[in-house]
Amino acid sequence: MFDYDLFVIGAGSGGVRASRVSAGLGARVAVAEERYLGGTCVNVGCIPKKLFVYAAHFAEDFEDAAGFGWSVGERRFDWARLRANKDREIERLNGVYARLLDAAGVTRIEGRARLVDAHTVAVGERRYTAEHVLIAVGGWPSLPRLPGIEHALSSNEMFHLEELPRRAIIVGGGYIAVEFAGILHGLGVEVVQLYRRELFLRGFDDDARAALAAEMRKKGIDLRFGAIPVRLERSGAVRRAILEDGSALEADAILFATGRRPLTADLGLEAAGVALDPNGAVVVDAYSRSSVPNVWAIGDATDRLQLTPVALHEAMCLAQTLFGEKPLRPDHEDVASCVFSAPPLGCVGLTETEARARYGDVKIFRTSFRPLKHTLSGRDEHTLMKLVVDRASDRVVGAHMVGPDAGEIIQGIAIALKLKATKAQFDATLGIHPTAAEEFVTMRTPVA
Ligand SMILES: Cc1cc2nc3c(=O)[nH]c(=O)nc-3n(C[C@H](O)[C@H](O)[C@H](O)COP(=O)(O)OP(=O)(O)OC[C@H]3O[C@@H](n4cnc5c(N)ncnc54)[C@H](O)[C@@H]3O)c2cc1C
Repeated sequence: MFDYDLFVIGAGSGGVRASRVSAGLGARVAVAEERYLGGTCVNVGCIPKKLFVYAAHFAEDFEDAAGFGWSVGERRFDWARLRANKDREIERLNGVYARLLDAAGVTRIEGRARLVDAHTVAVGERRYTAEHVLIAVGGWPSLPRLPGIEHALSSNEMFHLEELPRRAIIVGGGYIAVEFAGILHGLGVEVVQLYRRELFLRGFDDDARAALAAEMRKKGIDLRFGAIPVRLERSGAVRRAILEDGSALEADAILFATGRRPLTADLGLEAAGVALDPNGAVVVDAYSRSSVPNVWAIGDATDRLQLTPVALHEAMCLAQTLFGEKPLRPDHEDVASCVFSAPPLGCVGLTETEARARYGDVKIFRTSFRPLKHTLSGRDEHTLMKLVVDRASDRVVGAHMVGPDAGEIIQGIAIALKLKATKAQFDATLGIHPTAAEEFVTMRTPVA
């Protein structure tokens, strides 16, 4: 009756996974992609960002080497080479995604897709019918409507800059802003980061936020909180941000990393009866079903947790729900994440504030120390680790870290939280010595 069992709009993290797994379960699947295979994560998100984070870290690695007896010769950074190497890797990944879809028997369609009605999708002049339609269109940077905003860049452009600026202003307090501050600073750019509230990374643990701000300032990143740009200007190559207090800042580039909105406009959703929230996110139930029974949505388009592993997980669950043995609801509890800042901030579970609100009585374990490596490197950088424990059940309900390898370490701790480990079980676990991670199993005295 229909051309396809499932028509997926968007071949990003969620769309590709949903297509492949559904096809693997025997469904006839087509996926439309208007821009790039692999979506945000592969092209202008996680992957190129992390490659840039590695690039930026070499600056400190070269300095730190001296304390270990190494003399490092002349250092020069070539932005064009990094960008070209990154582009080559992304191109390779685009090819991998195409081959994965082809091998799974998914029909790939290039172009922008729109819903005509609940069972019909148009791409250009062609129309396709499908029993189920999946909205996996992701999100797009959202910049405020300020006079002169056309002089600003979004994170998308940061991956393709012709030249590295000498001075940059970064506006925003979310993880993308914080990460670009670290990347640009590491690559030798003078960075000022502006954020309108009193401290960046709202929603993360307060101690971790404060520790990261302190470390970034020590490195020389100029963090200015309570700073609100109201207008941008440009004269020649120089960009100027005029702040609410009347002061002005100059730079060669201004990045606005001020949030992302679901890419759901002009997709025919409203006409088909698909309900959107005020931010444009598709409203879905626990199984990712929209207000129209055969239209589903996953990933950033639903604005639940904007992370690639979450989009992948929602995709796997959806494929099972539609074509597997039984419906599966995605689980959004205790999702670990990492801000790849300088140094990184990793976390899983509840912040101290959230845990106090939920459990009332909590115990806090916290340690701050200079990593062994820096006893010889001489670098003044401290690592913070923190556990939040529900006093009644002794369960560890939150783990937070600011320091090298935070993402790698917290990933392991996340398994323990998922298994509802108690503090006594953390204590019964022997450490690996000497590591920073061992501190997570050796903190014995609560600080609160
Ligand atoms: C700078 C940056 C860094 C990030 N870093 C991380 C990180 O370190 N870790 C992490 O977990 N997450 C990170 N993310 C978030 C992550 O990239 C997203 O959560 C993830 O990509 C969401 O997947 P998705 O499938 O929902 O959407 P996307 O990956 O955005 O894919 C959507 C796809 O749909 C296509 N599309 C849109 N509309 C249409 C249409 N009408 N027709 C056809 N195709 C269409 C788009 O072109 C796109 O390819 C980062 C994001 C950014 C911007």
